Amino acid sequence: MAKKEFQAESKQLLDMMINSIYSQREVFLRELISNASDAIDKIYYKALTDDSLSFDQSNYYIKLATDKESRTLKVTDTGIGMSKEELEDNLGTIARSGSLAFKKENEKKDGHDIIGQFGVGFYSAFMVADVVTVISKEIGSEEAYKWESSGADGYTIEPYPKDEVGTEIILKVKENTEDEKYDSFLEEQELKEIIKKYSDFIRYPIKMDVSVT
Ligand code: ADP
Ligand code: MG
Repeated sequence: MAKKEFQAESKQLLDMMINSIYSQREVFLRELISNASDAIDKIYYKALTDDSLSFDQSNYYIKLATDKESRTLKVTDTGIGMSKEELEDNLGTIARSGSLAFKKENEKKDGHDIIGQFGVGFYSAFMVADVVTVISKEIGSEEAYKWESSGADGYTIEPYPKDEVGTEIILKVKENTEDEKYDSFLEEQELKEIIKKYSDFIRYPIKMDVSVT
C-alpha cells in the first residue's frame, strides 16, 4: 500500500517525541486516555442536541489491554470515532493541541521539561511504540478504517472491519535496549500507577484487561 507523508511540522513533532527523554515517556498514556475521554464527551454533547441519541453513561468506558507476547498495549474507547477523513486530518497533520512553535520555543528555554508539562497529543504514542495502529468507526457510519504508522516515514489507511463505534489504539511497545526499558508499559501495576498519577480526574471508567500468558 502506498504510504502517505506526514506534514513537515508533524515530522518535526514526531522526531521530538521519538527522541524524548526516558523519564517523560509515561505521559503518552495520559494523552491517549484524554483523547478517549474527549471522544466520549463528544457523544455526550451530541446527545444533548440530537434526539435520536441517548447517552447512557454506563455504555461508555475506556479500556486498556496488554499482551506481553505480542508486546502490544491497546487503548479502546466507546467514543465518537473517526471517519477516514478525520483519521487523515487529525492524525496525519499537526496535532490540534497547542502550536508546535510554542513547544519548540519552550523546549529551548527549559530543555526537555516541556513534554511532561503540556499536552503533547497523539504523537506521544511514538515515545513508547515503534508501530501505532488506530482502528476507528465513526458514529453513524457503516465503515471503519485502520490507520497505521511506524513514525516519520508516513502512514497508511485502509478499510478494516470493526463492529462497535469508537476507537482502538494499538501500540507495538518498543523492545528494551541496554539503557531504556519499555517492559513496564506492558505491566498492569505500572499502568495503574501512571493512570493514578495523570488521569485520576477522568470521569469515565478506565477498565483493564490483562492477558497473563
Ligand atoms: P488534541 O487532543 O489536543 O486535539 P491530539 O494530538 O491529542 O490533540 O489529538 C488530535 C485529534 O485526533 C483530536 O483532536 C481528535 O480529533 C482526534 N483523536 C485522537 N484520538 C481520538 C480518539 N480516541 N477518538 C476520536 N478522535 C480522536
Ligand atoms: Mg489530545
